[in-house]
Amino acid sequence: MHAVTKNQPVPFLDLSTQYKSLESEWIAAIRETGARGSFILGPHTQAFEKEFADYVGVKHAIAVANGTDSLYLSLRVLGIGQGDEVITTPFTFFASAETIDMVGATPVFVDILPESFCLDPARVRAKITARTRAIVPVHIFGYPSEMGEIMEIARIHKLAVIEDCAQSFGALHNGKMVGSIGDTGSFSFYPTKVLGCYGDGGMVTTHSDEVNEHIRRLRNHGAVKPFLHTEIGTNSRLDEVQAAVLRIKLRHIRDDIAGRQKVAVEYTKRLANSPVKTPSLPKNGTHVFNLYTIRVPKRDAVRQTLTEAQIGTSQCYPQGLHRQEVYQHLNYKPDSLPVCERVCTETLSLPMYPGMPLAHIERVCEVLLGAIKS
Ligand SMILES: *Cc1c(COP(=O)(O)O)cnc(C)c1O
Repeated sequence: MHAVTKNQPVPFLDLSTQYKSLESEWIAAIRETGARGSFILGPHTQAFEKEFADYVGVKHAIAVANGTDSLYLSLRVLGIGQGDEVITTPFTFFASAETIDMVGATPVFVDILPESFCLDPARVRAKITARTRAIVPVHIFGYPSEMGEIMEIARIHKLAVIEDCAQSFGALHNGKMVGSIGDTGSFSFYPTKVLGCYGDGGMVTTHSDEVNEHIRRLRNHGAVKPFLHTEIGTNSRLDEVQAAVLRIKLRHIRDDIAGRQKVAVEYTKRLANSPVKTPSLPKNGTHVFNLYTIRVPKRDAVRQTLTEAQIGTSQCYPQGLHRQEVYQHLNYKPDSLPVCERVCTETLSLPMYPGMPLAHIERVCEVLLGAIKS
């Protein structure tokens, strides 16, 4: 690692340091894959599916092309379609809702809890109608949703639950990994995620043999055997080169997550007793800090000061999804999701990755606290 000098720029994310540490192992795996000549759904993918399922604690893991497909295929296989309503959070990445539209259903946005930024189960209960068929809780930034209550609501109303785990690989809720609690878990291996590859990738997890077999067919054009297609599927497969790096990264994931949690502890220590609201920790689980997102007064001015000091930040998320142009026909009133509205004016994600140098953490906090005072 490079020596860190005082006023050096602080990147939001550094993926290349970790890449360098894994490069020789990965290149060796690529060479071996090339020699074998099996590039799609080969032995690395099969082994990775098994290792991933074991890690998450599920019977099946099905590798797909990206996280969006893992949500879309989950919804399809669980029978969600035209005329159905699916409850999700407005405070998430677009794909969480987009995939509900992709199967022909309608997203119903329900407000979040201010502490966790995840779905508020009490408000979920209030939004259930005769057309509600599923809930998509999103474990946002690495914080596990209130799965106990969500599963109870789902049981009473006979709803499917698709956990959006794109940002929360490895997070625990009551001793269970996220992605092992709902009907399916949906994961993304986009490079910036907790478990990221060097391209696109995704995974569906499930305990159900039926869901497993159906998703395996759909990801490969609905084929039951070569050239025999029993339904319309898609092309959504993981390639061997990505599976190879994911297997290597999975072996280091405990250290990576611990590294993120350590950065979070250092931030939280320095930002305590200030107007900054640091991320809450779940009472019955763990936070894996895909993002370290604070709430801060005068957010835009603070962010501007950090940008001028060459400190990378991100605004997750600038607005609730109900505010997106494409969802205007759903007619959400300006005050219908008040927690989301408020949070969107205050949140700021700070630089976060395993192994982030302490000097960088110190510099971010110094500039941030200075900006609040001025
Ligand atoms: C990244 C992300 C996705 C989509 O994953 P892709 O692999 O980019 O398709 C879905 N939901 C959430 C919450 C995400 O952060």
